[in-house]
Amino acid sequence: MTEATGSLVKKTEEEWRAVLSPEQFRILRERGTETPGTGEYDKFFEEGIFSCVGCKTPLYKSTTKFDPGCGWPAFFEGLPGAINRSPDPDGDGTEITCAACGGHLGHFHKGEGYATPTDERHCVNSVSIKFHPAKSSSADA
Ligand SMILES: [Zn+2]
Repeated sequence: MTEATGSLVKKTEEEWRAVLSPEQFRILRERGTETPGTGEYDKFFEEGIFSCVGCKTPLYKSTTKFDPGCGWPAFFEGLPGAINRSPDPDGDGTEITCAACGGHLGHFHKGEGYATPTDERHCVNSVSIKFHPAKSSSADA
């Protein structure tokens, strides 16, 4: 039901298994959820960009990250067009996925009263994203 535009990344399950770790595959392709409080980016507030771990598409800026204390990384806004929202297949809220590859990121919540510009919360699995520092002073290859 979501209309995606641009270059879409399409891979078979086998191809995804080849490029993702078992944990990444479980979350991105099977809508898994990492254990709260264990994620690499839960308490992580350095300046930069978070991209999709599956297809490397930039998804979130560090300036939109905040700490709601829920145990997962949270952002109040995604990069324009980078995030798709759809009703969760389990009927529980709104699922957010990478618009480019369809990888599961987490869940979307609105109107919870957090002091953010949007009052929205993108609750994202650390496993689904990869951080890229804003400064390019050191080699990141
Ligand atoms: Zn992606």
